[in-house]
Amino acid sequence: MTRTTTTYSTIDMTTPPLSSTAKPWYRRPRVTTRPDRFDTLLADTMATLRIAAAHAPCVLASSLSADDMALFHLIQRERLPISTFALDTRRLPRATLDLWQAAESHYAAPIERVTPTCDRRTSLNAAQAESAIYENKAARELCCAVRKTEPLRTALAGKRAWVTGLRRAQSAGRANVPRQERDVGFGLEKFNPLADWSDEALWFFIDSERVPVSTLYENGYASIGCDPCTRPIRFDEHPRAGRWWWEATVSGTATECGIHVAHNIPDATAHQPTGVPA
Ligand code: SF4
Repeated sequence: MTRTTTTYSTIDMTTPPLSSTAKPWYRRPRVTTRPDRFDTLLADTMATLRIAAAHAPCVLASSLSADDMALFHLIQRERLPISTFALDTRRLPRATLDLWQAAESHYAAPIERVTPTCDRRTSLNAAQAESAIYENKAARELCCAVRKTEPLRTALAGKRAWVTGLRRAQSAGRANVPRQERDVGFGLEKFNPLADWSDEALWFFIDSERVPVSTLYENGYASIGCDPCTRPIRFDEHPRAGRWWWEATVSGTATECGIHVAHNIPDATAHQPTGVPA
């Protein structure tokens, strides 16, 4: 396989890549009025979740985002036979870890912790410095492969279906997300029950059902991932502008870690440079 390497050695990382320091930070929506057709939207979501549950064993892959917390809430509220796991990349923000613990306690339900193996982390650390993710796209992709894609592949092994919180409104790259699709990369059904949900519908549901969410949404974060690769955004930036922003400085398009474009990932081992055995 030919691997394209992008380097970022010319970027001045000391300059915050924000549109303007004078602009206010993003604040998550407060929606007190029931959005149009919300009841239909919720009914469609429940129907999709029930179809997903019928594909046992089925799992919710949660990032502890507001979207995934809404799904976790529905699964627990309706007692659907869908288990939940989250990828602990060992680089998660403290607030995400706190929410994880609080959610398990609130719902009296486990969120299985899926981690990269010790051997793979050791190999990764031997192959590249932590800061390499900011300097070289291949290094960033390797980190995501070891900390996310490989553990995800392990977590999905033996499952018939997985559920995600993908929504079409999240980004242009997700504009065509269907409610159900065949995930050929992982070889199972993939359900996106919130595909049709707007931001307004999501936050109306979160507040009206008192779903616990990350405190980072009150601090300028619109999309939350690993701590080194997530920053708060200004109110007028795209919601995913705070993810891998240094790559977007070069390409204008870096907003995915790869786990939702699995059909483009032949095998995690294909991404490994010398020094990081599969
Ligand atoms: S999001 Fe960042 S820290 Fe997390 S796995 Fe990817 S490169 Fe590594």
